[in-house]
Amino acid sequence: MKQYNSEDIYKIVEQSQCIGCGICQGIVADEKIQMKKASNGYLQPIITGDIKQQEVIDILNVCPSRQLTTLPARLINESTQTDKIWGHYQSVKHCCAADEEQRYKGSSGGILTALAIYLLESNTVDFILHAKPSSSDPTFGEQQLSFNREDVLQSVGSRYGPTSMLENINALLDRGERFAIIGKPCDLSALRNLALIDKRVDELVKYWLTLVCGGFMPPEGTTQFLNEHLIKEDEVSKFRYRGHGFPGPTHVETSDGKTHDFSYYDFWGEDYKRWTLPHRCKICPDSIGEVADIVAADPWPGGGPNKDKIDERGNNVAIVRTVSGAELLDAAFKAGFIELEEETSIDVMNDYQPHQVARKYSSWARFQGLIDQGHHVPETHGLRTEELSNEMSEEFNDAQRKGMSDRVKQGKAKQPRD
Ligand SMILES: Cc1cc2nc3c(=O)[nH]c(=O)nc-3n(C[C@H](O)[C@H](O)[C@H](O)COP(=O)(O)OP(=O)(O)OC[C@H]3O[C@@H](n4cnc5c(N)ncnc54)[C@H](O)[C@@H]3O)c2cc1C
Repeated sequence: MKQYNSEDIYKIVEQSQCIGCGICQGIVADEKIQMKKASNGYLQPIITGDIKQQEVIDILNVCPSRQLTTLPARLINESTQTDKIWGHYQSVKHCCAADEEQRYKGSSGGILTALAIYLLESNTVDFILHAKPSSSDPTFGEQQLSFNREDVLQSVGSRYGPTSMLENINALLDRGERFAIIGKPCDLSALRNLALIDKRVDELVKYWLTLVCGGFMPPEGTTQFLNEHLIKEDEVSKFRYRGHGFPGPTHVETSDGKTHDFSYYDFWGEDYKRWTLPHRCKICPDSIGEVADIVAADPWPGGGPNKDKIDERGNNVAIVRTVSGAELLDAAFKAGFIELEEETSIDVMNDYQPHQVARKYSSWARFQGLIDQGHHVPETHGLRTEELSNEMSEEFNDAQRKGMSDRVKQGKAKQPRD
């Protein structure tokens, strides 16, 4: 029988597949793993104690870089439809927060914030597990537990920096309270994986909300952006990626009292030229939140905001995947927390999120490139990646496979361990 040890965990880090979610720390006893900002600027697990073989096996079973699935079968019913790109869904709806402040401050239209507030004020859950700007490193995110409207509003907006929100998940489950999670798709996948070995997850996690995720901003990308604008990183006291408008400016404050605002295209670059990604995000076969009740996204035709209408009032499009998600949206609408339009076609998502479509089609071939170089790839179930790859030309698949293989050879899929 194969023996597992801490090397199996470090392999995930060294092959640049750790997303920094923190669930490995969250499920082992006595803080034998600590999520730390490593010398390369990423949040990574540092092993500080003696990890037992069973703990390593549990970590490998929950890590979203080792296991990724679609919705649990019990959440798929006769009203579930399945789109080859977008996965299981009940409906797709345009929506936004009904409250103007939430809509304005929200990353898109504030739907996730409004739903979180509804869940708390209707006493449907006891708290929300999500993320707010880090108090120690303003470009990062950190876990936030929200118990009321004011707490939720501290977390409004997208955090594109590394964010480790599951590092104390065991302690959160020990509270025995009902909660909803709002996180990146990989955070939700980690928690769904945990549900398979810890029955408290399904008892206590009442709602699973996420965002369509293009990937987070690598620390070196943020550093480069700040350097280009002659802003000293160690003087940054506040960093808001977007929100306060749709999509709103990237807003930076520094310790000398100065403020700097950059438009969406200043930050991401024209044609998303500045959009760099961690290696794990480049190969993500599920950045569309396949395990969520509701997935929120930007409804931008063509995949980006209209430069002439940058200060529009915010809006979301939501993929409602489960009956429970549909009931939540309906209840929040009836209670006046959100605005909701009639159902629309799932095909709008292909127009709004072309980068996600491209990623889904290339994922399987990119995995083959990693396997060619002896790298590990996540085990996936129900994500349709091979099926989608089979629709593409041999030329496309070969180019994706070779491109990924070359990246590994060039050392671009490698991280040092601290
Ligand atoms: C890393 C990242 C990548 C994204 N990529 C895309 C994309 O490809 N396409 C697209 O349409 N939109 C993308 N978005 C933005 C996303 O569309 C909006 O956040 C979504 O539409 C929800 O908008 P909202 O106004 O409802 O959010 P809000 O009401 O502002 O609520 C956002 C919620 O998300 C939580 N949150 C924010 N960042 C994080 C984080 N890093 N980790 C965990 N929880 C977090 C907050 O705590 C808050 O509860 C991305 C956001 C992030 C953070």
